[in-house]
Amino acid sequence: MVLALVTLAMVDRILLHYAAGNAALAAGTTEHIVYNVVAILLPLNLMAIALLPERGLVTVQGIAQWAAIIVQPAIVIQLFKTGNEGVFSFLDVSFLGDLNPTWARIPDLSAIIFVVGFLILTAQYFWRPDSERKNLAWVLLACFMALSQGYGGVESTSYLATAGLMIIISVIDTSYRLAYQDALTGLPTRRGMYDLLYQITHIHYTVAMVDVDHFKNFNDRHGHDVGDQVLRMVASLLAGVSGGGKAFRYGGEEFAVIFPGKQVEQAQQHLERLRANIAGKVFTIRGPGRPRKKPEKLKPVAKPRQTLQITVSIGGADNTFRPDEQPDDIIKAADESLYAAKQAGRNRVRIRAKPKI
Ligand code: GH3
Ligand code: MG
Ligand code: MG
Repeated sequence: MVLALVTLAMVDRILLHYAAGNAALAAGTTEHIVYNVVAILLPLNLMAIALLPERGLVTVQGIAQWAAIIVQPAIVIQLFKTGNEGVFSFLDVSFLGDLNPTWARIPDLSAIIFVVGFLILTAQYFWRPDSERKNLAWVLLACFMALSQGYGGVESTSYLATAGLMIIISVIDTSYRLAYQDALTGLPTRRGMYDLLYQITHIHYTVAMVDVDHFKNFNDRHGHDVGDQVLRMVASLLAGVSGGGKAFRYGGEEFAVIFPGKQVEQAQQHLERLRANIAGKVFTIRGPGRPRKKPEKLKPVAKPRQTLQITVSIGGADNTFRPDEQPDDIIKAADESLYAAKQAGRNRVRIRAKPKI
């Protein structure tokens, strides 16, 4: 993304300095040649940035990418200096006819690169939904608009700035998702849970802590990968909780469900249903279990399509117990109820009962 931003900034400077105004519209001028070269190189560079694997800015590949960006204008300048800019005349060859509309003042070759690039990068939106690069198709579109002006000026700068803004927003969006969305289960994280809790402190709410029973044994027996699969399946059942509950991954094999507007006695039936759903679900494990680290002793490996049963214990508490309790106190109380559920034999729901008045 940094490379893309630097590329856009360079293109803006180059267009304003060497391809500004109407001179760029006339074939044969230096401005026109520079314009054509930029119109070819910009989409190619954006596609390379979008498709090459990301290895960081100060690795061998990263430095090679920086070098590639600096070398391109250097080569072009050298060709001009030696009077060889004629090699670029092929860029004016027209073969698309009316397919390349007259308002798009870019060479036919460039138009083709833009269209192919746009299709590939749009496909990337579905291939890599988690990458901030999935938005580069729109950046490419803004660059096309910048270049379709036919010369460097206010319009091209505005469109290039828009493209840069899209990149920055895309990066912010990705960092937000990294912080708020759990990579394994897709559930919102503990951070999101606290955000929600502090928004609803003025109304009744229930916090339920959910912990997978004997998960350590389960991991030891079937391997960490199978454990991860189970966490994902448990998470998908938690996400479908009834009663307006919202599920979060609290950490490890612990989850939380928040019920805004509900006292714990009202949430209890939904938690009970959730527990029963998970206990009644037969988990089908895909493929052999492969522990992340090499096990010291050989463990029995889960056979393909082996079925397993999983249970959870749930502890709930609400904020109607004492008026001065903060979200952390409620979480702690829910944790104590969870401990009581474990003590009582697991696979059950326990709630903090109200004091009798
Ligand atoms: P209990 O019924 O008392 O909850 O027993 P338990 O074995 O589930 O107890 P504990 O909470 O101590 O065990 C948690 C285990 O969960 C430890 C760790 O190996 C496993 N675990 C935590 N996070 C992950 C994860 O992201 N993936 C996998 N596969 N395992 C995890
Ligand atoms: Mg635990
Ligand atoms: Mg556990």
